Amino acid sequence: MPELPEVETVRRGLSPAMEGVVIEKADVNRPDLRWPFPDRMVERLTGQRVDRLRRRSKYILADLSSGETLLIHLGMSGRMTVSGDPLGQFAHTHPMPEKHDHVVFHMANGARITFNDPRRFGAMDLLPTATAEDHKLLSVLGPEPLGNDFHEQHLVDAFRSKNTPVKSALLDQGIVAGLGNIYVCEALYRGRVSPRRKAGQISVARVAALVPIIRQVLQDAIDAGGSSLRDFRQADGELGYFQHSFDVYGREGAPCRTPGCGGEIKRITQSGRSSFYCAQCQR
Ligand SMILES: [Zn+2]
Repeated sequence: MPELPEVETVRRGLSPAMEGVVIEKADVNRPDLRWPFPDRMVERLTGQRVDRLRRRSKYILADLSSGETLLIHLGMSGRMTVSGDPLGQFAHTHPMPEKHDHVVFHMANGARITFNDPRRFGAMDLLPTATAEDHKLLSVLGPEPLGNDFHEQHLVDAFRSKNTPVKSALLDQGIVAGLGNIYVCEALYRGRVSPRRKAGQISVARVAALVPIIRQVLQDAIDAGGSSLRDFRQADGELGYFQHSFDVYGREGAPCRTPGCGGEIKRITQSGRSSFYCAQCQR
């Protein structure tokens, strides 16, 4: 499941093919993904220029010259592929259409953007750009973890009266937007905070210390995605999925990497999801 760094990598990969470019033609091959597509989606996209491609949490937002914004969510299994060779930037010839190619954008520069989603938990919607933040999916989101509104005092205030485990608090999209299971595990490991500890019982200093750690964990993953983008031109043009090396996620039974710790990574289930942590150095 793509998390924030993967979505940001997709956005960066799409940007040279889409930003400033007119959507010449859009193929919408079924009536819905997770939800029905918006009314007259093809007509509302055709002939519009993508003025800006931005990201909010795990949503890609394409601001169109019509004053509408196309919202794209990859869901569980959504994949985006760039093909064509508009400016010599993409080495990929257009692939044969595949079974789950639900939406295809034909850009005026010759690029083709394909959205493929076998499980169809993804979503697309069209909303007025001016009031985009009021959309039901966006209005519930807390600050961006890499933005200025996510700061020490915000997290301290959000945690103060929280009786839930810190793991759940950081997954709460109203506290901070876009953090998912993997990067919460990684951040708590770097901060040496047990995922089981109640958010409201962690000292102010340790909560504050989590803010730069969360930023760094995400930034490191975005940087890794950046190197994957340089490679994807030699690969198949699919964006956003790349090999990671995690310090704690998925390492159950392996030795803890904290120098001098000697502990072993454990896996527990919290709210139906796996938490990986070292009980020795995460308190
Ligand atoms: Zn350890």
